[in-house]
Parts: sequence; C-alpha cells; structure tokens
Amino acid sequence: MTAHIIAIANQKGGVGKTTTAVNLCAYLARAGCRVLLVDSDPQANATTSLGVNPRAPRFSLYETLIDHTPVKDAITPTVHPGLELVPANLDLAGAEVEMAARMAREQLLARALRPLHKDYDYIVIDDPPSLGLITINGLTAADGIVIPVQCEYLALEGLSQLLETIHQVRTVLNSRLRVAGVLLTMADARTNLSNQVVEDVRQHFPQETFETLIPRSVRLGEAPSHGQTILQYAPESAGALAYESLAGEFMRRFPHGMGELETQNSSGEKRAVSSETGVEER
Ligand code: ATP
Ligand code: MG
Repeated sequence: MTAHIIAIANQKGGVGKTTTAVNLCAYLARAGCRVLLVDSDPQANATTSLGVNPRAPRFSLYETLIDHTPVKDAITPTVHPGLELVPANLDLAGAEVEMAARMAREQLLARALRPLHKDYDYIVIDDPPSLGLITINGLTAADGIVIPVQCEYLALEGLSQLLETIHQVRTVLNSRLRVAGVLLTMADARTNLSNQVVEDVRQHFPQETFETLIPRSVRLGEAPSHGQTILQYAPESAGALAYESLAGEFMRRFPHGMGELETQNSSGEKRAVSSETGVEER
C-alpha cells in the first residue's frame, strides 16, 4: 500500500490552492485517513493556515530539499489527528536558485518523499503560483494534480500552459502524473459570470471536474487569519460542507490503501484510464 501523492497546482495566484490543500487534508484526516500536507510555497500560507508558526519548527521543506535533512525530521503534528505537515518558510524562496545547480534538480522532492510512501494514505503538496522548479518538483513527485480554477473572469487563462507543462513532465520526468481533478472555487451562483465559468470548465473538462463546487464563503476567507481550518473555525458553514463533500468525492475517486491512482468500481474491476489525462473513463 502506497500513498496517493497529489499536487495542488495552478500558476495563477489566489485561485484557492492553499485553501483547498488545507481543508481537503483536514477532512481526509477526519475521515480516518493518514494525511501529510507538504507546504512547498515560500509564502508558507498552508503552514500558517494550520496554526503553525513558520519559524517555529527546527526543519522545514527547505532543509529537506537543500541540506538532505531527512523529511521525517521536518514533519510537524497539527491539531487534527491524522494530519501532519512539512512546513515551509521564506527560506524556500532561495531554494529555487540553489536547486538549479543540483543533479536531478527536478526530482529532489520526489526523492525526499520516498521514505514516506507507506506511512500515509494521501500526501498533498501545496504548490506556489508559478511554473518554476518548485512546482516542477511537485509535479514530478505526484501521481495526480488537482487544478483549482476560480470562477472569475479569465478563469481558463494560463490553463493551456499548465497542461503543456503537465504533458512535458509526464513525457520526460514522471509518466505516472495524471490530472486528478479540476476544482471550481469561489463560485457565486448569483452571478452570471460565475455560472458561465462553471459551464465552460465542465465543458472543457467533463471527466476531470469535481462535482463539488466550492462556494465563495466569507468564513473560508477568515479561517486562515485565525490559524484554523474551516473544520475548526466554522464546521457548519457552506464552505466547510463543500470541502467535506470534496473529501468524500476525492476518496471515492482515489480510494486509499490502493496507491498510485488506481481506482476500482464496486464490483472490483479496474476501470480504463484515459491516456490523455489519465482520468478514468466512464
Ligand atoms: P497563491 O497563488 O498566492 O498561493 P492560492 O491559489 O493558494 O494563492 P488561496 O490562498 O487559497 O489561493 O486563496 C486566495 C485568497 O482567497 C485567500 O485570502 C483565501 O482565504 C481566499 N479564499 C480562498 N477560497 C475562498 C472561498 N471559497 N471563498 C472566499 N474566500 C476564499
Ligand atoms: Mg497558496
């Protein structure tokens, strides 16, 4: 049994990557899964969103990638039983430059995570808003990428570049990489624009788009400033229910205990996997 490794990526900023990483992980852990969240963004928003001071842990992802510190030494517990964190801090901003001079520079994260594959059901990587070397490391380490798309003007902008990057990573570095899902975030059913984006994305990615829509929710925006997940901060809010539903959909798509994004239907047969995106065909 090996962990599903999922990178949450979109080079566009502020689309809900970190909010999704943190809250998806919280609900996966609450469902009884063993979950590791890897904060690979120097902004350290996932770290602070979980109430961890980025300067407090002795080791962070930086030391793991650059100084060969064993990743186990950087793992920090969180308030959620079953959810652990590899924290980030600003040092990681320098890592990109330092990594560039290394051998196998795209594979540093994949190698660092290897000793953990049997320890978790899901390893979730929160990527920064760029297609730089840190994101490439995330995609090289992952079996699947979840792409959050904000239901706003120009939502699909940049996605072709992201899909091209995924294609290149699959061809050159990591043939296991699949599009694990496209997630519509900050949806507002009252606006035509938001509804139009939902329709467009579902049309572009009919297989990949999660049925769960993440609504725009004040509570989701507030929770990180309290260092809390939505499960702690406002578990009855619409945003919390949406992330709970996403975790359920996610676990059905990628049952844990099976590893590497193999999925089975209820009669136990393996389903066909689309060669283009790797998403299962219905
Ligand atoms: P970055 O590219 O900077 O890493 P990101 O893609 O990780 O950003 P988030 O940090 O998750 O995006 O979200 C951007 C901002 O929007 C944050 O202030 C967050 O609290 C807020 N936010 C995220 N999702 C929602 C939502 N569904 N409703 C309301 N606010 C949200
Ligand atoms: Mg972020």
